[in-house]
Amino acid sequence: MRIIKESLVKIKKQGLNILLIAYWFMLIYIVAGFAWWFISLEQQNKQMYQFRYAELKRDEPYFVEKVEALQDARRRKTLQYIGEGGTFFLVILIGAFFVYRAARRALRLSQQQQNFMMAVTHELKTPIAVVRLNLETLLRRQLELAQQKRLLNNTLEEANRLNTLTNNILTVSQLETGAYHLNMQELNISELGENCVHAFQKRFSHRIVETHIEEDIFVKGEYQLLEMLLNNLLDNARKYSAEKTLISFSITQSERNVHIEVADEGNGIPDTEKKNIFNKFYRVGNEDTRSSKGTGLGLYLCNKIVEDHKGRIFIKDNEPIGAIFVVLIPKV
Ligand code: ADP
Repeated sequence: MRIIKESLVKIKKQGLNILLIAYWFMLIYIVAGFAWWFISLEQQNKQMYQFRYAELKRDEPYFVEKVEALQDARRRKTLQYIGEGGTFFLVILIGAFFVYRAARRALRLSQQQQNFMMAVTHELKTPIAVVRLNLETLLRRQLELAQQKRLLNNTLEEANRLNTLTNNILTVSQLETGAYHLNMQELNISELGENCVHAFQKRFSHRIVETHIEEDIFVKGEYQLLEMLLNNLLDNARKYSAEKTLISFSITQSERNVHIEVADEGNGIPDTEKKNIFNKFYRVGNEDTRSSKGTGLGLYLCNKIVEDHKGRIFIKDNEPIGAIFVVLIPKV
């Protein structure tokens, strides 16, 4: 299966390479044709000048003025070619640039969609397989209580993963199509933050989360979306940092805004990737270098949720290592 997939990707890549070569060939051909056109016209201009000059007689009246008029006409023609040709050339280059950019975008999106489909298939199949296996084991064998508990916890964890994934996918599509009915109400984000960290600690008791949450900060928002936002950020901090490192979570306020910060001590995010990771399906690196599984939807969704709350999300570097996701949302 994997081999077939790889061969399909290879064939697609080859096809795209051929298209790219054809594109550059056409462009070079047009530019060369253009240069040739300019040179021929210029030669014609010169010949015309020489022809007219040859027709003049040195002893005829106003010889010098006539030569000057011929030279002037020749210069004007050259300028006309440069002006018209230059404009035309510029239009072609701008057109080629837009075509190239649109094609590159479409290509990137299609590659990311393909990665997304592969990731989703994997992310859906793995938890289902684990849940099935655990339940079958529990049904068939008489296990000790501790073992039963371990299997059940593991099953619950996989079910939670499935739940997050399907929620993310559904919410993204609902937000994009406008089908999500935003039920904005005044809510206590401090309590929501406490709840999210609490649930997170229950699921990942081995992770150390340092919290700093100022009490009773209110925002106008949609409870479920803000919960998804915080859960996604906490989950990323966990996924992209080592087990023994610290995760910091804070909710504070300034005069106008609520500041939510989720910091980790993972590898952080390179400056060149900071603007990309909020794009749909975008994941840093490629399928061979990535160790963690995911779909590239989480941060896209976070960004959408923050936008719907008239806020802003951005990344800072943690010191000495790691990433800090900062969310600013207007206070009530
Ligand atoms: P996913 O985690 O499913 O890949 P996200 O949209 O949540 O998708 O994240 C997009 C990419 O941003 C991730 O693939 C990862 O490379 C990077 N990323 C997100 N959060 C962090 C983080 N806390 N530290 C380092 N990289 C991160």
